[in-house]
Amino acid sequence: MPKSIYLATKNPKKIKELQAMLGNNWVVKAISSLDTEITWDETGTTFESNAKIKVEALMAHCQDLILGDDSGLEVDALNGEPGVYSSRYAGADGDDAANNQKLIKELADTPDERRTARFRCCLCLLDESGEFHYFNGSCEGTIGHDLIGNEGFGYDPLFYPEGSSKTLAEYPAEEKNKISHRAKALQSFLKFMAAS
Ligand code: IMP
Repeated sequence: MPKSIYLATKNPKKIKELQAMLGNNWVVKAISSLDTEITWDETGTTFESNAKIKVEALMAHCQDLILGDDSGLEVDALNGEPGVYSSRYAGADGDDAANNQKLIKELADTPDERRTARFRCCLCLLDESGEFHYFNGSCEGTIGHDLIGNEGFGYDPLFYPEGSSKTLAEYPAEEKNKISHRAKALQSFLKFMAAS
């Protein structure tokens, strides 16, 4: 019998990635499957606090396990920006095209050797006894100059994982799901679930 878990996110691409990584032993449920509309304000200043805010918005509305995902891109030459503001970097929430254009512009004068960056992901689990647990993952890389590739989402077309000549948006989903920040956080989550 597969275990079911709600993923507290409004990003369908994250649900798709998580379901693909978890496989048939899990059913990942979207908040859109609930009768109530779930909203939250991402007022946290860390990935952990925002992941918890998402879980808290959902916890009164379902009995299942809940996982909140907060993630983003930290660019060293921009002192860690856009960080927790990754999805609203250019203003509107979730406008990937505008966010990428803003990033290209902000880094226009930054030489290749200073374009280092990382994706970070924090998963926050609310377990059946009401406790919160946190699982983190990161993926190091560099930021390109042009958008390349059509897979994935967000900043993937600008992000070259360390040692790769391809952007994450050129990786087939199953390859991204082996190396991504989300995959690494999920591995810690699965280890915790196996031990508990
Ligand atoms: P969140 O939904 O508030 O956690 O926003 C995460 C934002 O970070 C997304 O809108 C993307 O801009 C970026 N992001 C997070 N994970 C990824 C990824 O796997 N690839 C590309 N961009 C990502």
